[in-house]
Amino acid sequence: MVSEKHPRYKSLALRNKLVDGYEKGITSAHGLIAHGRGEAFDYLLGEQTSENALSATNVACAYLLTARYPILSVNGNTAALVSEEIAEFCAITGIPVEVNLFHRSEERIKRIEDHLHAYGVANVLTGFDIIKLDHIASNRAKVDKQGIFKADVVFAPLEDGDRAQALTQLGKVVLTVDLNPLSRTAVTSTVTIVDEVTRAMKNLIGLAKHFEGESDQARLDTLKASFDNFQNLKASYVVMQKRLQSLAP
Ligand code: ATP
Ligand code: MG
Repeated sequence: MVSEKHPRYKSLALRNKLVDGYEKGITSAHGLIAHGRGEAFDYLLGEQTSENALSATNVACAYLLTARYPILSVNGNTAALVSEEIAEFCAITGIPVEVNLFHRSEERIKRIEDHLHAYGVANVLTGFDIIKLDHIASNRAKVDKQGIFKADVVFAPLEDGDRAQALTQLGKVVLTVDLNPLSRTAVTSTVTIVDEVTRAMKNLIGLAKHFEGESDQARLDTLKASFDNFQNLKASYVVMQKRLQSLAP
């Protein structure tokens, strides 16, 4: 148990969630290491949502609400950290989930499916009807024909660079959450939310509620058209640069 008074409370609480996920067989050992890289970037970003991260979240929400067939791709880290938020977001939007793992294992997929169901996520695909994507190595290429393969908009938080790239090469809109604005995932996705995934999902829920029943499709289309992912990533580089400069002027 970590006291709420501990100066690193939030960060330690997230670590505990991941360790729980690891012990339950939901999160992989590699996932624990990946989280550490995220934490390092979050330090540089000041552990808060930047203005540009919020505008990217807004645009991601617009894409999800106007998609023909959107899907939310969930891996072991995402399941351990934000199952509750996923349940709420999917209940508002009706977007289905596909469990899709970088280190694929049928047992882990089943455990994640059960975990998501326990949190109330109704519509979970687990790769029953598999097809392999081009441009990518074997096991990591597998997606569900009724899920990611069919989708026009794929929301894949904490995704790997190769896979984000393979999905954009297929002409899909890829939305991601990645604290590292330099990663291949960040640079190859259509919309990169440079934010911690629990903060991003909370913001996304707020925005989905705000836009619920939005009849003005043109407003959402304008939001999408006005977004430039590279400019938004540059704004994250500047956030880090300014923060370091303020510490060592
Ligand atoms: P890429 O494959 O995109 O080039 P990478 O190989 O450096 O990136 P991966 O291990 O594939 O990184 O993915 C981990 C990424 O997820 C890291 O870039 C890290 O910043 C990010 N990440 C980890 N935990 C979180 C989190 N809680 N919230 C947001 N991003 C996170
Ligand atoms: Mg990677």
